Amino acid sequence: MLRLAIQKSGRLSEDSLALIRECGINFISSSYKLKTEATNFPLEILFLRDDDIPGYVQDGVADLGIVGQNVLVEAGFPGLEVEALGFSKCRLSLAVPRADAYASIAALQGKNIATSYPNILGRYLAENGVQAHLHTISGSVEIAPSIGLAEAICDIVSSGSTLLGNGLREVETVFRSEAVLIAQPNLTAEQTDLLEQLRFRMQAVRRAKR
Ligand code: ATP
Ligand code: ZN
Repeated sequence: MLRLAIQKSGRLSEDSLALIRECGINFISSSYKLKTEATNFPLEILFLRDDDIPGYVQDGVADLGIVGQNVLVEAGFPGLEVEALGFSKCRLSLAVPRADAYASIAALQGKNIATSYPNILGRYLAENGVQAHLHTISGSVEIAPSIGLAEAICDIVSSGSTLLGNGLREVETVFRSEAVLIAQPNLTAEQTDLLEQLRFRMQAVRRAKR
């Protein structure tokens, strides 16, 4: 038996459920249940907040998970990734108020930057020789400059319309992300075999879509 953790409700949920179904795995899901069992594959599905998924898989509470690389790397467990899934593509970018001068990343030296991704951003800034003050906030990062909390932000961007709406412009791409399948480090031999069957089916689903 394998336990797979997916996001309960959010941008990963629909595509995660669709992928499992496209792999030929049947299950009954209802919006109020936190757990369900597949009827034709030894798989249990847990519905969790995406931020909790890397830790649960690292600890073996769940055997597998589907999560964004942004959340996985921020949590500090990049090694759990076993398969890129090709959906929920987005990027983590730095943005500054539209009117502010910005010639290069050196412009951020000594500045306050609001983000939900202090680990990924901290490493990127260090690699670029920039020292800044990071303010970790969990949501509504885009309003930080307009309320005087920070001179720049680092957040997830897909279309850029949220940035525009808050008077910001994107200046650097910090990290590119997509959804990935992750697996706990200590699967049994039988579980590893089931994982390989799942990966084989997932790869076939992706090939069929190209
Ligand atoms: P939860 O309540 O589970 O904590 P959340 O609000 O943190 O959810 P979502 O906004 O549902 O998270 O995003 C989940 C993941 O989907 C992100 O971590 C990222 O990998 C991806 N994602 C976020 N925004 C976009 C987007 N605009 N386009 C595509 N993928 C995105
Ligand atoms: Zn989350």
